[in-house]
Amino acid sequence: MIDVERARALTPGVRKVAHLNNAGSALPSSAVLETTIDHLRLEAEIGGYEAAADAADRLDAVYTSAARLLNCAPGEIAILDSATRAWDLAFYSIRFEQGDRILTSKAEYASNFIAYLQAAQRFGVHVEVVPNDGLGQISVDALRDLVDERVRLISLTHIPTNGGLVNPAAEVGKVAKEAGALFLLDACQSVGQLPIDVGQLGCDLLSTTGRKYLRAPRGTGLLYVRNGVLDQLEPAFLDLRAARWLSRERYEVQPGARRFESWEYGVAARLGLGAAIDEALGWGLESIRDRVYTLAARLREQLEAVPGCRVRDQGAERCGIVTFTLDGVPADEIKAGLAARSINVSVSRAPSTLLDMTERGLVEVVRASVHYYNTTDELAELCRGLPTR
Ligand SMILES: *Cc1c(COP(=O)(O)O)cnc(C)c1O
Repeated sequence: MIDVERARALTPGVRKVAHLNNAGSALPSSAVLETTIDHLRLEAEIGGYEAAADAADRLDAVYTSAARLLNCAPGEIAILDSATRAWDLAFYSIRFEQGDRILTSKAEYASNFIAYLQAAQRFGVHVEVVPNDGLGQISVDALRDLVDERVRLISLTHIPTNGGLVNPAAEVGKVAKEAGALFLLDACQSVGQLPIDVGQLGCDLLSTTGRKYLRAPRGTGLLYVRNGVLDQLEPAFLDLRAARWLSRERYEVQPGARRFESWEYGVAARLGLGAAIDEALGWGLESIRDRVYTLAARLREQLEAVPGCRVRDQGAERCGIVTFTLDGVPADEIKAGLAARSINVSVSRAPSTLLDMTERGLVEVVRASVHYYNTTDELAELCRGLPTR
């Protein structure tokens, strides 16, 4: 169980706002804040290279923490500056050939789908969208019927940006394994919100961000690359950190996932990411999930009681992202009205998840995403803050 009072005492932002935009960027804890600022200060005092040398052991420990979080080896982790960059580095390293098939889901994030379309233009790959089942999640049966030896990649968004759906990633992982296809999981909204075990999910590649449910500073992200698939990937970029220059003719890429990194990065933010991961592990991902799911279920219940309010979340398992519309009221008006009461929510619009929103006839939804430090009072305040017509 999460000690909510303690969690709030360790989160300075809760004194200013009811933050229900955790799927956008969660409030960092004081430990994350101090770790980050302390390093920036050290850089100013002794020099950036010198400060990094001073922090070498702690920087190394970030890989160990990330590996614990995802249940993999530290060498299978690359630390990057966003989920999108992590995802891109994985996707653009796949050696696609003409006629290869990419199978993906309805809930796909815009950036991912744009990359599939580019691959279709460049390499002549076929992009196919697996239908949903009756619950609005990817149909594993339909996926099983679609796979054949031409499927090079199964690429899935675990939790979409626009709703509470949790796609059955482990089931998809089993199908990918049987089919001998690469499995890339966009876990941007799930890491930090629920337990993630790359072995149990059966994914070869996984990307996530720091600033969302992990509560890390902005400008951080992680990529997991299973050791066994490194041979199938050709990093799109190599620099002097990703590879070593051996002679006039030769270079050698780094062992493991670090071949996807580059030399320069925000050291302070990375240390902050490490502190955020350690904190999440300290609370326990199961406890975090239980608290988040309970709060979200309660919020959905309360919203359903508001006249004209429709909860839009799908799936058998529903997570901390709660989306809704209010008949006749534009989402921006709802967001602005809540902001005036120091309640943060966000608006998710069709272009971010075009296939799903179009299919459901939605142009926008209000997104209230809860974290373990939120309270039931804040949920009630949100409902009270909705405009009435
Ligand atoms: C937010 C989000 C991303 C992008 O993450 P960045 O860190 O902004 O690159 C990717 N996929 C999903 C599902 C997201 O919600």
